[in-house]
Amino acid sequence: MSTTLMPAAFIGHGSPMNAIEQNRYTDAWSTFAASMPTPKAVLVISAHWYVNITAVTAMRVPRTIHDFYGFPQPLFDVQYPAPGDPEVAQRIVDVVEPTYVGLDTDSWGIDHGTWSVLKHMYPRADVPVLQLSINAELPFDYHFGLGAKLHELRSEGVLILGSGNVVHNLRLVDWHSPGEGTDWAHRFDDDMREIMTHDAAELGTASSHHDYRLAVPTPDHFLPLAYLAGLAAAANTPATTIIDGYEMGSLSMTAYELRSA
Ligand code: ZN
Repeated sequence: MSTTLMPAAFIGHGSPMNAIEQNRYTDAWSTFAASMPTPKAVLVISAHWYVNITAVTAMRVPRTIHDFYGFPQPLFDVQYPAPGDPEVAQRIVDVVEPTYVGLDTDSWGIDHGTWSVLKHMYPRADVPVLQLSINAELPFDYHFGLGAKLHELRSEGVLILGSGNVVHNLRLVDWHSPGEGTDWAHRFDDDMREIMTHDAAELGTASSHHDYRLAVPTPDHFLPLAYLAGLAAAANTPATTIIDGYEMGSLSMTAYELRSA
């Protein structure tokens, strides 16, 4: 049986300003989208839906959420009016059983971890978008395992995207270091790349890395990568780097994709 698998990816989304700017990162995201057939739907695991339950958005018309403050008005004016897809949401619930995923019909929508990337990938907002929450109560292995269970969706035309940052320490941001990363940011990002591009099933060892507590002070931006690692393990395919780079010392912008053989 031959099946065509949609690619899957992890995107380092960085500052919300990337939504309305054009730079080498946003160009890489557009190029990635242009490199594949239009998906039936996009399922995004965003760092910014980090809650105490596992849920998938299931509304027909998800709202655009502006979940940040202190940014210029044009960012608050952004709308991303992509439709939802309740049928795909139900399919996700079924595919991951017996893991429980709730259907969210009225709570979340499309947050900036999602729209700041999709604005560049699908600027017309004409591809249905769903988000899967990150359950903050559960450990790395749960997220890795749930990612692996989503594998089947790739053969059904669903593009799965993790959106976070491998290195994300806002407390240590240095506004005078655009385009740069600290030594520890480089070390952690390089070692995670070694894992993702060779044996993503080893990503769980990250928490014992010497620089983990600096690179991952909270798990929200790192865990979307666990989903891609799970998908990589399920497909027995290593990830490849779409783009890399650093911003403000303590953010890495590395993005990865999975391609079917
Ligand atoms: Zn973020």
